[in-house]
Amino acid sequence: MRILVIEDELKIAQAIKKGLELKGFAVDAVYDADSGLSYGSDPDYDLIVLDRMLPGSIDGAELCQKLRQNNINTPVIMLTAKGTIGDKVEGLNSGADDYLVKPFSFDELNARVRALLRRPHLTVGTKVKVGNLELDTNNYTVNRAGQEIKLSSKEFSLLEYFMHHPGQVITKDMIINHVWDQDADILPNTIEVYIGYLRNKIDRPFPKEAPLIHTMRGFGYKLEEAKK
Ligand code: CA
Repeated sequence: MRILVIEDELKIAQAIKKGLELKGFAVDAVYDADSGLSYGSDPDYDLIVLDRMLPGSIDGAELCQKLRQNNINTPVIMLTAKGTIGDKVEGLNSGADDYLVKPFSFDELNARVRALLRRPHLTVGTKVKVGNLELDTNNYTVNRAGQEIKLSSKEFSLLEYFMHHPGQVITKDMIINHVWDQDADILPNTIEVYIGYLRNKIDRPFPKEAPLIHTMRGFGYKLEEAKK
């Protein structure tokens, strides 16, 4: 697995590089945003460790955003010196997959690198895709075959949950537990109603496309691109 480290503090960059190499990774380190952008655009990297505070024309968050705009979906762990909620949110919204607040222990970085590399690469930054259905968790938009679909916030949450578990049977209980908060008094019938709403928006208006929501009678539902 190849990792790119983008960090202007030479000592930290070298320490991360050395540490990850000892764990068996192939590691390249660059020390400024411009090199970071050009190296990071190489899709052969399996992961990028990116410092948020970089000198030069763009900072780490902007660099990450640019990579995502260029459809580079390499997982990114952002290093941030500030631990404020605003910074974390900004980092994640820029398309980073995880962040680590400095100073951090190398063991934690290594654990997060491992965890990210285990994730299936279904997401491009903040976007999730199943077939030609795409959901963007950053600006809460959904489109299918390039056509925008308007969803209520509950429908969006429900679809988001399905899209993170493509091909998996989702029971009504799972939906109740993951999509509604624990204070909500939800009956299984309500789930059927919401599934109906979703079908009316993501499947029915697209008669030329195979339906994505499937009922698994007696078990629950499944979101899946039909096999051809
Ligand atoms: Ca820095």
